Amino acid sequence: MDFEPKWIAWEITRRCNLNCVHCRSSSSLEATGHPDFSLDEAKRVLDDIKSYASPVVVLSGGEPLLRPDVFDIAAYGTGLGLRMCLATNGTLVTEEICGKIKEAGIKMVSLSLDGSTAAVHDNFRNQPGAFDGTMNAIRLFNQHGIKFLVNSSFTQRNKEEAPKLYELVKKLGATAWYLFMIVPTGRGEEIMEELIPASEYENILNWHYDMEKEEHELLVRPTCAPQYYRIVLQRAKEDGEKFKRRTLQFSTGGSKGCLAGQLICLIDVDGNILPCSYFPKAAGNIREQRFQEIWEQSKLFLELRDFKSYKDNCGRCEYVNVCGGCRARAYAISGDYLAQEPFCAYHSRGVDFYERQ
Ligand code: SF4
Ligand code: SF4
Repeated sequence: MDFEPKWIAWEITRRCNLNCVHCRSSSSLEATGHPDFSLDEAKRVLDDIKSYASPVVVLSGGEPLLRPDVFDIAAYGTGLGLRMCLATNGTLVTEEICGKIKEAGIKMVSLSLDGSTAAVHDNFRNQPGAFDGTMNAIRLFNQHGIKFLVNSSFTQRNKEEAPKLYELVKKLGATAWYLFMIVPTGRGEEIMEELIPASEYENILNWHYDMEKEEHELLVRPTCAPQYYRIVLQRAKEDGEKFKRRTLQFSTGGSKGCLAGQLICLIDVDGNILPCSYFPKAAGNIREQRFQEIWEQSKLFLELRDFKSYKDNCGRCEYVNVCGGCRARAYAISGDYLAQEPFCAYHSRGVDFYERQ
């Protein structure tokens, strides 16, 4: 596996107009102690990245549309030849914003939708009117020919919604739908008891497999459910089928389940480089070191790329190279990011067993 940065999420502000229960950065309208950086600094970061690699860069937050210069940042990245994307909660999207998204050369916008009705979504997002805001954004994106994808997060609270959300997102004209099970970090830690247990997680991923096999238009993939890569291999073998995966667009998914610090990373508003959006441990800081140096030399990233050092079930697992388990969940639950994935129901018979066959 070549460990090149392919996808970088960039928290360009920690401020947000919503207050979602599962927010990884615990964002709110005031982000005391974590101010936005300047446009000049943003340009320096993009220059630094571009001097080394050509990843997709997703302007994220908080809510990136709260920054008045968000489109200056996007246009600068586009000018450098980077594929710039925007992750928004959708509530601030207007006709004028759509014009600016196009002008800045933004290739894809991602939105979140966690319920097929206002009641479920607004409850999850802690904000009456959030569902209508997202629907309004989708209407505007369709009108302006702006490509969008939808991310849906699930906990015990809304797990029944997965099939309904899939149908809705398909009807709404999205390019892709990415199902996501909450990783307990940021405000997510407070909803530990709401997390979906391993056995049910397995059922949902099996449902997804059956759905994905029949789906030929909408791009679908569970994100940050690395064990899906194991389930696909197991199910295809059981069913005696060849399962041809389609290429995803602007997603973190790809060749392997967990890609944290391997093909993807997050730059937070303070310049810290983290393995992914849900992994609260920094590999270095872009204000102090070049991006390339952090990417290639940080101890944390080198450890995450050494699959042989993974422990317990993941360490013994014959699927470790295609799955890898969620390192952020391992860290959140046990404090050891090399420990076994706590939400995987699979107990491997061990690599040795397979080597002997
Ligand atoms: S550690 Fe890997 S699977 Fe877990 S949230 Fe990060 S990228 Fe996703
Ligand atoms: S044990 Fe770990 S590596 Fe194996 S399938 Fe489960 S999460 Fe993936």
